[in-house]
Amino acid sequence: MKCPYCDEEMKCGVIQSPHEINWKPKKAMLFGNAKFHNGAIILSESSFFKGSCVEAYCCENCKKIIIDYSEKNIK
Ligand SMILES: [Zn+2]
Repeated sequence: MKCPYCDEEMKCGVIQSPHEINWKPKKAMLFGNAKFHNGAIILSESSFFKGSCVEAYCCENCKKIIIDYSEKNIK
């Protein structure tokens, strides 16, 4: 994938967590899971044995990470 900021090739990798990985409109004080927040987007559901993992592209020039949260990327 080409970086949309500088047009250089981005490095493919993953972001992993022992918990669900999600995006929320604001930081949660407590209970960070998406099901507790309106407008939250789950990037990777967590399983007890595997945790969660989502593919992400990194541009080291621009210090940007891009995550595709379409179904194909949800593991
Ligand atoms: Zn870039």
